[in-house]
Amino acid sequence: MLEIRELTVHYGLHEALHEVSIAVAPGEIVVVLGANGAGKSTLLKATMGMVRPTRGHVTLDGLDLTSLIRRRLTHQIVEQGLVLVPERGGTFTDLTVQENLTLGAFPRRARAREAELRAFALELFPRLKERLHQRVGTMSGGEQRMVAVARALLSAPRFLLLDEPTLGLAPVLAKQLLRVLPQIAAEGIGILLVEQNAQLSLSVAQRGAVLSNGHLVHAASAAELRDDPAVRAAYLGSE
Ligand code: ATP
Repeated sequence: MLEIRELTVHYGLHEALHEVSIAVAPGEIVVVLGANGAGKSTLLKATMGMVRPTRGHVTLDGLDLTSLIRRRLTHQIVEQGLVLVPERGGTFTDLTVQENLTLGAFPRRARAREAELRAFALELFPRLKERLHQRVGTMSGGEQRMVAVARALLSAPRFLLLDEPTLGLAPVLAKQLLRVLPQIAAEGIGILLVEQNAQLSLSVAQRGAVLSNGHLVHAASAAELRDDPAVRAAYLGSE
């Protein structure tokens, strides 16, 4: 279980995240919705120790990661089984797909399983199999997102944090990418997904939460959120 408790982040005097608590079980997909600037990326970055929280705790299967987070030891957090696919990037664009995957398996926890993890990632994204020797910088936006997710999977995560993976993708590509998430979750990997595309993300998630101005204002099952008039009005473009 990944448990984020009362996480608070300040940028200078600006409070970007206020006592946000959210939990993800193994094999579960939880989506965090919210407008631009709501604090979604900050939540993921603080969980990975990429920004230092002012308050709060993160535990992974009961192990307290807070001191690693406070010291911003992100590589050690990855060793514990958390990985983030950032909003943009998450790949080495000068390297080939193959080389990106190899670097993804750098954590000690992943090395012995590299062949198996690579086979799983390429099964999820068969398109990458045909492009193993292509330089990632020359690939389309959608293909680059696939490489970023595949590379994260090579680190043998227990929990995968995804920051707006569909940003800038055509609807058909966004759908293709998010459709892969239940297959990843079926391996027991928990997924914390940040998205603006509510319709699509609520169709693959079991639960969801809404962030607004750094506050978690609503948490419910994905089905309830889909039917909620306020969520529909704000994020689903209806009512
Ligand atoms: P988006 O959907 O636009 O990516 P978001 O919900 O991910 O938005 P964050 O990137 O977490 O939002 O930003 C939350 C708030 O914190 C915003 O007001 C943003 O301007 C501010 N912020 C983010 N990063 C920094 C930073 N490094 N320094 C100062 N303020 C920041």
